Amino acid sequence: MNTLSVIHKTAADLRVEPNLLDYEKTRKTFTWEAARTELPGGGLNIAWETVERHTTGALRDKTAFRFLSATAPPRDLSYGDLSRLTNRFANVLRKLGVAKGERLFILAGRIPELYIAMLGSLKNGTVVSPLFSAFGPEPIATRVNLGQCKVLVTTDFLYLRKIEKWRETMPSLKHVLLIAEDDGQTNIPGTLDFASLMADASEAFEIEPTTAEDMALLHFTSGTTGMPKGAIHVHGAVVTHYVTGKYALDLHADDIYWCTADPGWVTGTSYGIIAPLLHGVTSIIDCEEFDAERWYRILQDEKVSVWYTAPTAIRMLMKAGAETTKQYSFPQLRFVASVGEPLNPEAVWWGKQVLGLPIHDNWWQTETGGIMIANTPAFDIKPGSMGRPLPGVEACIVRRNETTGEIEVIEEPNTDGELALRRGWPSIFRGYLNNEERYRKCFVDELYLTGDLARRDADGYFWFIGRADDIIKSAGHLIGPFEVESALMEHPAVAEAGVIGKPDPMIGEMVKAFVSLNKGYTESEALRRELLGHARKRLGAAVAPKEIAFLSSLPRTRSGKIMRRLLKARELGLPEGDTSTLEGGASA
Ligand code: ATP
Ligand code: MG
Repeated sequence: MNTLSVIHKTAADLRVEPNLLDYEKTRKTFTWEAARTELPGGGLNIAWETVERHTTGALRDKTAFRFLSATAPPRDLSYGDLSRLTNRFANVLRKLGVAKGERLFILAGRIPELYIAMLGSLKNGTVVSPLFSAFGPEPIATRVNLGQCKVLVTTDFLYLRKIEKWRETMPSLKHVLLIAEDDGQTNIPGTLDFASLMADASEAFEIEPTTAEDMALLHFTSGTTGMPKGAIHVHGAVVTHYVTGKYALDLHADDIYWCTADPGWVTGTSYGIIAPLLHGVTSIIDCEEFDAERWYRILQDEKVSVWYTAPTAIRMLMKAGAETTKQYSFPQLRFVASVGEPLNPEAVWWGKQVLGLPIHDNWWQTETGGIMIANTPAFDIKPGSMGRPLPGVEACIVRRNETTGEIEVIEEPNTDGELALRRGWPSIFRGYLNNEERYRKCFVDELYLTGDLARRDADGYFWFIGRADDIIKSAGHLIGPFEVESALMEHPAVAEAGVIGKPDPMIGEMVKAFVSLNKGYTESEALRRELLGHARKRLGAAVAPKEIAFLSSLPRTRSGKIMRRLLKARELGLPEGDTSTLEGGASA
């Protein structure tokens, strides 16, 4: 397979006229001020732009969210329902005396109440933070305390398992609202019943006035490189969500859209809740965990037209094999995007061949609040590249000058350096909770330093090299793990790869790879040697791994990112550090 080639877009690939037709021209004329005026409320309150204006509007009876579960029939919430229910929830908060700016956390699966509580809080001016429901007591308490959470919305089941015994360790917590998992009422001392409060609340609510700079959301980072950080986001971020939903996800009003991320991660909020509501589309929300057949069935039966997912999910679908895919068809699917980790060229091509559509990788972070660099419908895809900066986003590659310590912008294409973004887009984070110094260090003059290394080619495409923390220094070379992992994943036996630098007295660090295998392959010495040879041929001896180990699966964050720091700690017998976000770990 030729991973260096370009996927040219044809009219047939696009299916509908994309929102972004002329990339260069739109970039030249775009301003955030003009974009803000496209939102009826001027982007001052997320809840107003996403739901309130639909109470009596044209979308009133249209399905906003369709919830799927393995055990119950689908449940639809219309834009009108959402508006009324969020008003009720905002009234619940007002009655409890929860003031503007106070914090509410939600710990729940992807159930309707999560969405209602989240948007209702924003109506009340309450700052909201959704937590991933599989967190155990300790990671919950750490975040609740860091965020000075006053109200917690969770289920009776989760409360009894993860909160009740630990409640004294969370002194800021004043109210706990419980959703009954069996649809009845809850009756647990020291808590309030969500359903009863909602039933008693009025459906009329006047949104608490907010400005674009008022705090709206707290999002914790994935914890891939260390202790998760709490990023502060404001209501004005809604303008970025709108623009990126339009240009990077190409949302059109008649789309059936599925974002597979959990709202406990920023993608599940920015693009699982806010952006689709802004564009008036119908969103699919699956309450279950990943399962290849289930996911294909959802794409098929729900007639999903725009799908936003993650490289891990795509690689798991690839691992499930072509036979599984062949049982389904998705004629309505027209645009597929991915985020969270580098998307190896093999996976982009897999999309083209198996789904009939290339996968559009895009890049952003919890800190940026929205998509910054993307493969859009408007230009050809270079598989392995994360695309080009969206209209309104100025990205560059920088290097720290060793003598002056100053940051230099590198104009020369194809030069490795740190990816930086020029301030000015509305959804940039406004701080890390309790860590002002770390926040300040992210900025030099007008540049935000992302901590990721990348290069820009002569056509303006950006190529991810690795996180600054993961870069391997071997015999004078700087090696990005992604390059090595991509090469390994080109081999038919390899499903996933994670690459680390292992201290070596001769060459500084030696490249070591951990791989998991596709169906139908078993680990053996012969396969190990074959993979070493394959990598050497593709990468050259200096960059290819010297050691390869087989793992049944790689350690990942719950948001699906390979935790290289854990591979390294385990390899070296060092402490594992914070594992609160490790998939399958630290939960109760
Ligand atoms: P922490 O900051 O706690 O270590 P994290 O950086 O993984 O965790 P997120 O904000 O969820 O937390 O992830 C953003 C990071 O994910 C980016 O900085 C980048 O390293 C990686 N990433 C996201 N999208 C892409 C992409 N398309 N290609 C390559 N890397 C990506
Ligand atoms: Mg990060």
